Amino acid sequence: MPMRVIIVGGGFGAVQFAKTLRKQLRSSDCEILLFNRENHMVFHPLLADVAGASINPDAAAAPLRQMLPGVGCRTERVERVDLASSEIEFADGNGALNRLHYDHVVLACGAESNLGIIPGMTEHAFAFKVMRDAIDLRQHVVRQMENAEAATDAERRRWHLSFVIVGAGFSGVEVAGEVNELVRSSTRFYRNFRKEDVSVTLVHSQDQILPEVAPSLRDFARKKMEKAGVTMLLKTRAVAATHEGIELNNGKMLPGATIVCTIGTAISPLVQHLDVPKERGRIRTTPDMRIEGHSNAWAVGDCASNINAVGGKPSAPTGQFAERQGRQAALNLARVVRGEATQPFRFKALGQLCSIGGYSAVAEMFGMRISGLVAWFLWRGVYLFKLPTWSRRIKVALDWAWDVIFPRDLGFLNTDAAQHLTHAFYRPGDFIHRQGELARVFSVIEEGQVEILQSTDASQEPVVVAVLGKGDFFGEGALIGNRPHETSIRARTAVRLGQVGSALFSQIVGSFSPFRDILSKAVTTRSGDFWRRVPFAKSLLDGESLASLLDPPSAKQLHEENTLADAIKALNESPIGELLVLDEKQRLWGTLDRGDLYHMIARIAATPIETRGDSSRRKLNELLPGNPVYVTLEDSIFIASATMLDHGLSWLPVVQSKDDLRPVGSLRGEKITNRMIEKIGRTQSDQARAAS
Ligand SMILES: Cc1cc2nc3c(=O)[nH]c(=O)nc-3n(C[C@H](O)[C@H](O)[C@H](O)COP(=O)(O)OP(=O)(O)OC[C@H]3O[C@@H](n4cnc5c(N)ncnc54)[C@H](O)[C@@H]3O)c2cc1C
Repeated sequence: MPMRVIIVGGGFGAVQFAKTLRKQLRSSDCEILLFNRENHMVFHPLLADVAGASINPDAAAAPLRQMLPGVGCRTERVERVDLASSEIEFADGNGALNRLHYDHVVLACGAESNLGIIPGMTEHAFAFKVMRDAIDLRQHVVRQMENAEAATDAERRRWHLSFVIVGAGFSGVEVAGEVNELVRSSTRFYRNFRKEDVSVTLVHSQDQILPEVAPSLRDFARKKMEKAGVTMLLKTRAVAATHEGIELNNGKMLPGATIVCTIGTAISPLVQHLDVPKERGRIRTTPDMRIEGHSNAWAVGDCASNINAVGGKPSAPTGQFAERQGRQAALNLARVVRGEATQPFRFKALGQLCSIGGYSAVAEMFGMRISGLVAWFLWRGVYLFKLPTWSRRIKVALDWAWDVIFPRDLGFLNTDAAQHLTHAFYRPGDFIHRQGELARVFSVIEEGQVEILQSTDASQEPVVVAVLGKGDFFGEGALIGNRPHETSIRARTAVRLGQVGSALFSQIVGSFSPFRDILSKAVTTRSGDFWRRVPFAKSLLDGESLASLLDPPSAKQLHEENTLADAIKALNESPIGELLVLDEKQRLWGTLDRGDLYHMIARIAATPIETRGDSSRRKLNELLPGNPVYVTLEDSIFIASATMLDHGLSWLPVVQSKDDLRPVGSLRGEKITNRMIEKIGRTQSDQARAAS
């Protein structure tokens, strides 16, 4: 039986490893199996060209099995590497988990993009890491130009033509250059806008773009890009992203219908779950690139922290290094097989190349600094040469030649937004929709709270009538009734929503009767303008403050870190059986009553027995959903009671204010009705007295 080497990944590191090892060891002596999530290798340096429509996507993605003769290529995702038993676990095409033994394993699974570092980026920005990102971005950019052409409002037209790129490292600069070139060179095909309507903005936290290259080249790149129309916002950070654009750390809102986030990387989940020594999340290796403590497991590329013998520092996470590491790790493995000594990783970086759009680039190669058209030819020449196969080289060369002579391709597939399931982020105070607007989506609150606002006629300012929280939904009434929204919805806190497009919503409602039942129940129980419909009851509570009906917080309060055993004890001692749960800053985190206790026990029962442990020691923040619906002292009794009505609750926690979530007590529905009865009694006795 030949020995088996399994490679996890199909990028720069993995491909070089597989190629080199195949040359070193015969197929009869060594079986090489490469597992990659996709069936192709992505050539990242060309992703910006794909987004800018100067090359076709397939030119920057090379099919692995055509590149790697003699290597078994599997398009499967590896779920787990069991270093103790020398096995990998992967899901096959039918979803079944399989295990495969190896003699040596090489981890080359790269890193992932992480938009979660800035609120709203996951929901509203494009990442720029995989081929899908580049293709989606290109489609989106062209769609924005079509939207701008159709827009009747000049401000909205300019918004469609606003492109914001966050991060001015290599990929940010390259994307900005390409998008700028694509949009500005295409304006001549549109009748309703001109180059002056377009804005492309690079937002960067440092005082210079391209921090990795020499100051003279950076300056050149900045000036050249500014001349081409790219605005640089330096020493500025994005703090949130919404559908409208990005919020900056200076408090200003930068409008943008397209946001690309090129900052933020995360360690691959496979590496995260691996119990080995790590350096900032990357796998620590010995100098010959074996995982520390394991003689038959290797790690190369962005997922590894390999010390470069040149300089004694961890290697940079670049394709250049990943390739060299892959090559040398394969040579070392071959040495191990032959019983020879391995060699430490040693590589002197060749230089830096960055395209900045408009047939211009900056390059630092072999100590030389070049910029402009010559650097651009060098950039293209080097990457053409680096492409993995001759067929790719010819394809890309033809695309580039085509791009120099002919305009860029503006075709795009018009996918129907009404069919999509998406996510959205709103900042406190942002309107999600306004009364009278046409309904486009059904929204479910994943995090945070929103306010329902209503006005009886156009001249009247809308007032808050109720509050919705996590798990609540809205938009169904207008979609089912095929009518405009009867209320406005505004974010009360930062809010994350799951949104279903109108066409998809209709399909779900049509096909799934349980969902339909839940919605029709909600439509009939929603308070809407409840208080306006019962003016008599409303007049009884007019002038009544929420504080006057407040029950003080109970003496016993729980913390999210308390255990199930603590919760049972506290509920047992509580006369009303309702408790507030606080976080470490004494802010409201959740609520707990006997019904919740039942749900917590049901949740434990659903956990497999072997992973359950001592259930009584499970923490409340593992068992309770948290994020309860609440009102503030500033809210009216009408908002509080409509909120209770909407949620079918008999009580609500009350906090100090929207910004200060420390609880000040709770409001009970029965107290509101008691106050009304009291008032009716008083009115009746006043009337009787007046009559006598
Ligand atoms: C837009 C952009 C431009 C860049 N430009 C340059 C440049 O000009 N020069 C340069 O040197 N570097 C550049 N880089 C960086 C370079 O691309 C990376 O450093 C390089 O790709 C790292 O190689 P790798 O082999 O470690 O991982 P990758 O090339 O990222 O490959 C990892 C592979 O592993 C697969 N994978 C992950 N998890 C699993 C799993 N569980 N099971 C199966 N497969 C899995 C992934 O699908 C992927 O195919 C750029 C990066 C980006 C994003």
